[in-house]
Amino acid sequence: MTSKTLYHQATFLLSAPALEHLPPDNGAEVAFIGRSNAGKSSSINAITGIKGLARSSKTPGRTQTLNYFRLDDQRRLVDLPGYGYAKVPLTVKQRWQQLVHRYLETRKSLKGLILIMDIRHPMKDSDLQIINWIGRCEIPLHILLTKCDKLSHGAASSVLRQVEQDLQSRPGALSVQLFSSLDRTGLEQAWAILNQWLP
Ligand code: GDP
Repeated sequence: MTSKTLYHQATFLLSAPALEHLPPDNGAEVAFIGRSNAGKSSSINAITGIKGLARSSKTPGRTQTLNYFRLDDQRRLVDLPGYGYAKVPLTVKQRWQQLVHRYLETRKSLKGLILIMDIRHPMKDSDLQIINWIGRCEIPLHILLTKCDKLSHGAASSVLRQVEQDLQSRPGALSVQLFSSLDRTGLEQAWAILNQWLP
């Protein structure tokens, strides 16, 4: 089963504060990453059709953990800790970087990474860092330019083209699309990518 019904049956599995707490590294998983407030939780909730499944990065307690959602025995979605909070102390930022870096480098069942960017603030330094890391890990990366409902059709298409052009000059399997959790723009396209990665 790799249709959207797979995502609709998502259930919360666990929150891991460190890599030792991750579920067994078999089967396949896709991870979501993005700057705080970019719209990561809303995207996961839209993709699964389950309101409140992923919590906003403002929710205390779930901000620095890897949050796992089970789709079936072999497949999972992972909500990685949000980044880019100006107020977070440097030590916390460094800990986050180490955790995510090690996860991306070592997790065998990781089949693809979804990078969430607010379409009004694309390709920030922290996003570029992720894109560079992932290029080295040989894991495909797909960008959702979220909140595209906030721009006109023309303005959104223009950002999409700019990001597409930028990605062409970088190594790795990189792709991008428009997305809106609010009006469900791009949902079918996002499911199609996930289906490729979670066969
Ligand atoms: P996270 O911190 O990345 O998990 O971001 P959230 O999913 O909590 O979203 C941050 C804010 O952006 C919230 O106020 C959401 O309601 C809003 N938001 C998220 N996605 C969309 C979208 O597609 N369109 C619009 N208009 N607002 C969105």
